[in-house]
Amino acid sequence: MAKQVPIVDYLVLGDPPRLEVSTCTACGAGFFDRRIRCGRCGGRDFERRVVPATGIVRTFTIVHRAAPGTPTPYVSAVVELDDGTRVKANLLGVEPDPKAITLGMKVELATFVAETDDEGTEAVAFGFRPLNGGKGFSDA
Ligand SMILES: [Zn+2]
Repeated sequence: MAKQVPIVDYLVLGDPPRLEVSTCTACGAGFFDRRIRCGRCGGRDFERRVVPATGIVRTFTIVHRAAPGTPTPYVSAVVELDDGTRVKANLLGVEPDPKAITLGMKVELATFVAETDDEGTEAVAFGFRPLNGGKGFSDA
């Protein structure tokens, strides 16, 4: 099997793959990017925490223009995970059409190979795909 590396350090490859947030030990705020201080309370200590792999679509946009080599259109969304953590990611397996996407639609984490280098190492990215065909609204 090809060697795989995640494209971001908060994506942890495994079976199943998961996302981990850096969590402030003082107030519990979670951040996907690297922080020196907590944006909520100014705390300096963080620990890694696994976040749920399922959530709902909070908002989305359909992107028609992107960097050269990036296929368009695609759906960029903000997903609110089951613990309330929000993550920006592309939606996978849906038509890039507003009629195909519903706010509150349930989604789950999915990974895909974004690129393969000359040595065969695969860069693995993540997105979210609809659960149950995307039907059903959240109770939230
Ligand atoms: Zn904090």
